[in-house]
Amino acid sequence: MDFRLTEEQEALRESVRDFAREVVAPVIAEHYEKHTFPYEIVRQMGKMGLFGLPFPEEYGGMGGDYFTLCLALEELARVDSSVAITLEAAISLGAMPIYRFGSDEQKARWLPKLVSGEALAGFGLTEPGFGSDAGGTQTRAVLDGDEWVINGSKAFITNSGTDITALVTVTAVTGTRPDGSKELSTIIVPSGTPGFTVAPAYSKVGWNASDTHELTFDDCRVPAANLLGERGRGFAQFLRILDEGRIAIAALAVGLAQGCVDESIRYAGERQAFGQPIGNYQAIQFKIADMELRAHTARLAYYDAAARMLAGEPFKRQAAIAKLHASTIAVDNAREATQIHGGYGFMNEYPVARFWRDSKILEIGEGTSEVQRMVIARDLGL
Ligand SMILES: Cc1cc2nc3c(=O)[nH]c(=O)nc-3n(C[C@H](O)[C@H](O)[C@H](O)COP(=O)(O)OP(=O)(O)OC[C@H]3O[C@@H](n4cnc5c(N)ncnc54)[C@H](O)[C@@H]3O)c2cc1C
Repeated sequence: MDFRLTEEQEALRESVRDFAREVVAPVIAEHYEKHTFPYEIVRQMGKMGLFGLPFPEEYGGMGGDYFTLCLALEELARVDSSVAITLEAAISLGAMPIYRFGSDEQKARWLPKLVSGEALAGFGLTEPGFGSDAGGTQTRAVLDGDEWVINGSKAFITNSGTDITALVTVTAVTGTRPDGSKELSTIIVPSGTPGFTVAPAYSKVGWNASDTHELTFDDCRVPAANLLGERGRGFAQFLRILDEGRIAIAALAVGLAQGCVDESIRYAGERQAFGQPIGNYQAIQFKIADMELRAHTARLAYYDAAARMLAGEPFKRQAAIAKLHASTIAVDNAREATQIHGGYGFMNEYPVARFWRDSKILEIGEGTSEVQRMVIARDLGL
């Protein structure tokens, strides 16, 4: 067992770390405050090849793997989570379903744009009335001649309404199985299709520089050929996408947790109280030591899940463990980093205030902590 990174992985980590510090850090607070999408940062991430990290070179990708993507996400989230989730969702929820399940035509049409970062895609699973209980999907798609007619709505869809969003892949009920259960399928809906409406962006607690919208489909017609993969395989497809995505969210959470350590060390060295830097007090040192402990162990959990996935072994339980643990400790670290910053920790101009606001969603998105426990328990045969 060797968790040391290869030279290429170390080099990528360094370059993403530099990019996050030099390009993202100086401008992200303003985007966050104004709730604007960071197009210029996305353009530069595209130029660096980050959107193509886990995809083969034939589609313009870097030919890396999912673990390499996780390393990049960790380094981005160490500085800012809106940018990290934009990349995570663009790959794991946007391009990956097309790469994994798409036809040759669909891959040729969409992947080069998505892999270059020139365009983004969203994945619409959650609905206003159903999230964890994804089988409750109400959106329907009916085949009418050579077109699907889609009706319904989707809630909280990341990257679905930017100026460069090219498509959203939606899950929909396409029929009833012989046992009476719903037949779920996934269908590609290009942006701008008549009947597909993107609501104004939500006002969120965190991830304020990322793009999230409710979507409605009102007799929205797309070609029958926009079905992604086999009809009726929608449930299996999104379970696979979510399993992988949990490793990526765990990496993002570890990044946030490590960013809390970075900022706390910096602040503890500067802030004076009772005649000396607060970092001289053991109470503060122990808080930071515990934060480092949490970030380190959560990192090992996502490394383990990613290693199993790349080895082609079952990884569902390990991905759920990594996501559950990393999101929990991200919230803990954000709370403690804010505490170390005292009143300044409650001021938006300090990165830890952003970390605090961005941490909570990690326990909710891509499966809540309760859902992760359900996945783990089920995998244990309970
Ligand atoms: C900023 C943001 C971005 C998002 N991006 C996307 C996206 O791109 N695509 C997408 O499809 N979705 C997206 N989501 C949706 C997200 O995945 C869901 O919010 C999440 O899965 C939870 O679903 P819900 O909000 O409907 O909560 P619910 O499912 O209604 O859950 C409410 C509470 O009940 C608990 N609960 C539910 N069932 C059980 C049970 N059986 N036992 C115990 N407790 C239970 C949950 O854990 C939770 O605490 C996003 C959400 C946000 C906030």
